[in-house]
Order: sequence, then C-alpha cells, then structure tokens
Amino acid sequence: MTEYHQQSATEVMKILNVTTQGLNDDDAQRRQQIYGYNVLEEGKKTSTWAVFIGQFKDLLVIILLVAAFVSFLLGEVESTIVIMIVVILNAILGTVQHVKAEQSLDNLKALTSPIAKVMRNNQLIELPSEEIVVGDLLVLEAGDYINADGRLIESHNLHINESSLTGESIAVAKSTEPIHHSNITIADKKNMVYSGSFVTNGRGLVLVTAIGMQTEIGKIAHLLDTAKEKKTPLQMNLDQFGEKLALGITLICLAIFTIDLFRGRALVESFMFAVSLAVAAIPEALSSIVTIVLAFGTQKMAKENAIIRKLYAVESLGSVSVICSDKTGTLTENKMVVQEVFVDQKKIPYDWLNPTNTVEKELMVKALLCSDAVERDQKEIGDPTEIALVKLGKQYGLDEIQIRAQYPRQAEVPFDSERKLMSTVNQMDKQSIMITKGALDVLLSKVTKMKTSTGIFEMTAQHRQKIEAVNRDFSRNGLRVLAIAYKEVAPQQIINNSAERDLIFIGLIAMMDPPRKESKAAVASCIDAGIKPVMITGDHKITATAIAQQIGILQDPAEAIEGHALEALTDRELQEKVQDYTVYARVTPAQKIRIVKAWQDKGHVVAMTGDGVNDGPALKQADIGVAMGVTGTEVAKDASSMILIDDNFSTIVKAIANGRSIYTNIKNAILFLLSGNAGAIFVVLYATVLGLPVPFAPVHLLFINLLTDSLPAIAIGLEPNNKKTMKDKPRNIHTPLLNKAFTTQVVLEGILIAISTIIAFQIGLSTGDTLTASTMAFTTLCLSRLVHGFNSRSKESIFAIGVFSNKYTWLAFLIGVLSLHAVLLMPMLTTVFEVAPLTTAQLALIYSLSVLPFLVNQWYKLLFVRSRS
Ligand code: ATP
Repeated sequence: MTEYHQQSATEVMKILNVTTQGLNDDDAQRRQQIYGYNVLEEGKKTSTWAVFIGQFKDLLVIILLVAAFVSFLLGEVESTIVIMIVVILNAILGTVQHVKAEQSLDNLKALTSPIAKVMRNNQLIELPSEEIVVGDLLVLEAGDYINADGRLIESHNLHINESSLTGESIAVAKSTEPIHHSNITIADKKNMVYSGSFVTNGRGLVLVTAIGMQTEIGKIAHLLDTAKEKKTPLQMNLDQFGEKLALGITLICLAIFTIDLFRGRALVESFMFAVSLAVAAIPEALSSIVTIVLAFGTQKMAKENAIIRKLYAVESLGSVSVICSDKTGTLTENKMVVQEVFVDQKKIPYDWLNPTNTVEKELMVKALLCSDAVERDQKEIGDPTEIALVKLGKQYGLDEIQIRAQYPRQAEVPFDSERKLMSTVNQMDKQSIMITKGALDVLLSKVTKMKTSTGIFEMTAQHRQKIEAVNRDFSRNGLRVLAIAYKEVAPQQIINNSAERDLIFIGLIAMMDPPRKESKAAVASCIDAGIKPVMITGDHKITATAIAQQIGILQDPAEAIEGHALEALTDRELQEKVQDYTVYARVTPAQKIRIVKAWQDKGHVVAMTGDGVNDGPALKQADIGVAMGVTGTEVAKDASSMILIDDNFSTIVKAIANGRSIYTNIKNAILFLLSGNAGAIFVVLYATVLGLPVPFAPVHLLFINLLTDSLPAIAIGLEPNNKKTMKDKPRNIHTPLLNKAFTTQVVLEGILIAISTIIAFQIGLSTGDTLTASTMAFTTLCLSRLVHGFNSRSKESIFAIGVFSNKYTWLAFLIGVLSLHAVLLMPMLTTVFEVAPLTTAQLALIYSLSVLPFLVNQWYKLLFVRSRS
C-alpha cells in the first residue's frame, strides 16, 4: 500500500476527501463518530474502592485492627466494634478527602488542556485538541504542540522538534514534497508531522491522517510517563517524618508494654495502654491534610487566574525573592495603538496621515501585507503589534483581508523574537516585493536606500542619524517602534533571513502599549514584600526604561542594560552585577536563562515569565516558570509550573501571597495536630511514670485523633489570606518546616494542654473512680484541643486577626463539641465510649480547664507577638 508520505499533498487530500476550506460541521461530526476522540488512553485510575482499601494500609490502622482483634479474642466485643466503627469512619473520611483532592487537581488539568487551530467551514477556529478528527486541517505556528499525526500541505520554513519520538533534539526542517521510498523511519518522513512534537519555527498547514491511539505516539503510549504527579518536597518530608515518628513510637510503646508487664500489670490492660499511646502519638492526618490544603489552595488560585501545573510550585511560591517578568502584555496591557508615524521625512500623528500621499499609503499597505493579524466583527486574532497596524489601516479605509487578497503572499520568514524581524514576499503588480518589518536597530543596518514622495535615493549618514533620533524620541515616550522596508526580488525566489539586506526604508510606526492599571500597585507590593521585580523585554531600552519608570520598577536609568551589553559580561561578572539591573532590553530568550541562573547563584528563588517557544529552557530553569495563558505558546505552557490566565503581572503577586498563606496555613495545621498529640503523650507518660491508672481508653484517643481533630486542622488550612503576609520577607526555602522553633512550640503548647488534662485527671482520681477520672481526662483533652484550634490559626492573637474571620474553624469547633457531648450524654454511646456520667460541677471545671491553654496562648501572643500594621 502506498503510504501518505509517498503521495502528493493533493492526492492525500483527495483520498481523505478534504478541500482547502477544511471540513464542515456535519462532516466533522460524522468523522468524530467514526474515529472517536483524539485522546490517548490513560493508565487505569485508582478506583474509589481501591482508595478506601488503601486507607487500611496505614501503620496506625494496622495497630488498631490488631487491637480490635485482640479485644475480640479477650471477649471485649464492644471495644472491637467501636474500634472497627472508628476505623471505618476514618477510612471513609480519608477516601472522601482523597477523592476530593484528586477531583480538584483534575479540574485544574482540564483548565490547561491543549487547544488546536483548525480550518473548518473555511474559517480558522480554535478547538480543544481532543476534538480533532482525521481530515482536519491544522494550522501550525512556532510554539504549537502538535496533537495529531498528519501530512504537510503547506510549509513555510517549518521546523519541528520531534525529540519525544525520535530522541533527536535538533529541530527537523519539513517540506511538502512527496518522498517515494516506502518503509522509511519517522525521522525521514520530512513531509509528515507527529503528535507529541512541537513547532520551533515557521508556519505550516497539516492534513490530519491519524488521531489518538492510532498516532505514532499512541502506538507507544504505554511507554509514556503516565505517572501521577509526584509528591511535593513538603509532602515527602512529612511522609518521612511520619514514618520515623511511627517507628519510634511503636518501639516506645513496646518498651512501655514490657515494663508494664514486668511491673505486674494485667496483659490486657498493658496492651491497651500501649495501643493508646500509639494512637495518641501517631499524627495520622498529617500528609492528607497537606494534600487537601494544597488542593483547595490551587482551586482558589485558579479562581484568581493563576493555574498551578506542578503542586510543588505552591510551596516554592512563598519563597520567591525575584520576579523576572516580560513587559509586553504582563506589565502592559498588550493593547497596542498606533500613536505616531515617521514617513516621507516627517513625524505625523496617527490621525493626520494622508492616504493620497503615495508613500504614506504605501507604508500602511506594506505594513498590512507583512502581518498576519486580522480583525473581523470587532474580534481580533493575532499579534497585538500587528493588530495595531490593522486598526491603523482600517482608519484610512484599508481592509487587511482585501489588501492581502489583492497582493497575495508568495513566501515568508515569520517573526522571531531572536531576529526581531519578519519578512514576506508579495506579488505586487507583476513584481515580487519582499517586505521586512521589525525593530529599527536591527533593520537599519540592512537598509541602503530610502523612499520619500520625491523618489528613492541612497541613505546618507545624516538620514540614518535623523531616523535614529526620531526612534529615540518615540521610545522616550514609552512607544514601541516598528520600521518598514522593502525591495524587489526575483519571482519565486525562496527567501530566508539572509535575504534581509539592501532594503529600501519607508518609515517608522510608533505604538503605545499603556501599563496595566494594576501594575504599579503590584510592583509596590512586591518591593514591600522583599521581592525584587525585574523587567526583561525584547523591546527597545528607552521604551522599556520609560515604562519601567512609570510603574516604579526602575528609579535610575543606569539600572537598564541591553542584550548585547549583557552578552559582553561573563557569567561571573553577571552574577556580581545582577542585583544592579532591573531592566533588560533587547534580550533574546537564550539570555533569559543566564539572568535566572545569575540570580539563583546569588541564592535567590526566581519566578520567570515566558510565552515564546524559545522561553522553554528559561521557564524550566526558573524555580517557578510562569507561562502566559493568552499569548503563551503551548510549548511555554508545557515548560511552566504555573499559567497566568490573564497574563497579568499582578496575578503573579497575588499567587505569591496565596503561596505564602498556604504554606503558613499548612504549618499551622501541622502545629495544631502535633501539639495536640504531644499533649496526649505527655499525659500518658505522666501516668506511666507515676504508675497511675490508664488516663485514656483507646477509643477516647481514637475519637479525638481520627474524628474531632481532622476538621479543625482542615479549617486552619483554609484560613483566609492575612493582609500582612506581604509585609514579611520571603521565606528561606532551605529552612525546614519542622525546625527547632517549631518543635519547641509543639512541646510548649502540648505541655499547656497536658497540664489542664492532668489537673482534670487528678481531680477525677480523687473521686476514687477511675472511669470518672479517665472520662474527665478524655473530655478535657478533647475540648482543649478543639479550643486550641483557634490558637493555631495564626502566630498572632485571634483578636488581631479577627475572631470570626475564619468561619470554618467555628464550624469545625461546633461539630467537635456536639460530637463530644453526644458521646458524653447519649446513653447508647456512653457505654461504647467508656465514659462515666459527669456532674455539672465536673463539666464546668472541664470547660474552664479546656479554655486555660487558649487563654495562656492568647495572653502570650497579645503581649509578645508584635502585630505589624
Ligand atoms: P516581552 O514580551 O518579552 O516584553 P516583547 O514582546 O516586547 O518582549 P518581542 O515580541 O520579542 O518583545 O519584540 C521585540 C521587538 O521586535 C519589538 O520591539 C518590535 O520592534 C519587534 N516586533 C515585535 N513584534 C513584531 C512583529 N509582529 N513583526 C515584526 N517585528 C516585531
């Protein structure tokens, strides 16, 4: 059978029954029914049932199951039932949390699913790539990921990186010519493109020949890394910590068990005591709380226009100390509007042009021909710089589509931020005219003549100086300048960038891209938060400096440096001087990576924005790679750990504030869990050392640790952002969460809880009834931990942050208190939970004792934690 690569493009189109207008809706729908969706089958997801079963693999749960079994053997059926119920409830809670967290992460993934540009009904539309069908015409541009296999129909300097299939990292030049050999490798099929590869350069039109599992990558899909998201450093740390702690505690419990037996205590009692201690100490909810808080946090961030692609980014965000940001579209609005034009030797405001002057008209027409953007029904598609040109033309009755149809394009060298130029060849009145537009500093050296209304003449040094002076003038006002030049070329001449020389200059078009309203405040907030904002742009130094000054990034123009000056610095020199520069102009994407590295070598955590295909390496090098959601290429998005839906700088600053809060909230939730556990351990140890009766039955600790403790912990994790978060300096990424200060706090807060509980226990013992004593100890421990939930909300006093500002903590508290009282008061539960009835006086005492740790904690915070305002 002849393969697609052996046939001509027209033959393949005929076979697949497609015209250059693309499929129509009916046809596309019919084909969808035949071929299905363009998706790769993913490895089987863990079912909810499997997640539920997975909950029983936990060390703590295993200990409990053993305890339940032993109780059963000893005839204590009631204990067995209670333990089993609590264990099952805990497993259900764990499963719900797990599934919820997975769902919210899946939702995030759906937000970033790839989009394809497709010709349908003779119109260019954007489509989720899963809706591509065989026979669709895909339009490819630099930075696009290819999501189906296909035969090239058109190729303009199209280069594709196929490393995911072939391992070859150098981009392959593609062409449309048929290749007559059969049985050749993928790498040799130069007229085919493959799913999983991406466009590094140029443009192309592709006829889809295979989708989903039929694509080459689909055939090897089982080799793809479908591994789930890796755990974040914090999660891994906590897992390790949890494991060590569990092991240590199990050993201690064994030791205490042996000592007890040795002392002559009954086997059952000693066993239950050891189990109690294990249950009290193992922080069961630790890792799952982190997952939940991270998952909720990312959802909140998505609502605020920042999509987290890699969970670890949430943690590192709080440590970001430098933001390297693009200018265009991120700090500015990316809504370019032409302000002034330099043509025919004079500067003319945009609304004073005269279309009857041939050169003035020619400047506008050539600018339209050397652009791809279109504006139809007030909808703009394409590069904002070019949209400004289209709008200028419209003002003078020049319609871009009409003009492009009148002077058809024969060839092109697409815009590339490396060269800062773009060229096309158009057929104009039987001549082939090459038009080049781009940055003046690049273009001027390629110009030899200039055109005015009096004719074409050699460009003198004086002319050059004048043009440069005008350019400087425009730039000083923050305008972006495009120069336009042209020359006649031989018909059908294949052009590449080496043809961009001996050009005839026509004029300059200067456009305004105002700073975003929010930029100034966001920059100020960054500086306040100890974060250095740095502008990196492909634009002219003077333009960049003007904008940077307007938004407060730069004070002294000496803080701006240009790409070529940067090139002259060695890595060492750059590292030494990097703190002196806040604006980098005329920078190529390759230089961005040097800037990131220089900051990182200085010990900083760097967030870097990017949109182009060449930004990938810098985005990967940065600690937080931030891709643009609107103007960003798929390649940039793929390399990033966060995507800005609105391309807005202030969204990064908000994300950092969220990142800081989420980290603090997780830390506080952990503090809450560990200090509560510590309290319980201290009481148990106290009783052991003094040879007192067991203060808690295992069910008591089960009830607290597995049921009433999780909700307040989650509620603490959901604490709203504190306005003062952005007054702190960035957190040192190398400081471990569980450091000395943190551990000391855990112990001190644990001691406070333990003191209250021990007092209640001793008073209970003085009644002579051990059941009353343990009931009082249990109730005080449970209640004081619930009240302690309010302490753990912040390092500041609850009165400084607002008593009711986190409603979840109140909800968790109320549910906890109600459950506790149900256990104490409902006759059915009192026996099951081994509690004795308490007198009102005893209850009142317990309430007061439970508030004691809270009061001491708040008193300390009010007096010693200085509130920053
Ligand atoms: P950043 O987004 O990083 O702030 P930028 O978008 O301003 O940078 P580029 O898009 O690389 O940077 O543009 C650099 C220069 O290239 C511009 O100053 C302009 O002169 C020229 N330029 C921009 N867009 C085009 C285009 N579509 N065609 C030709 N030249 C262009």
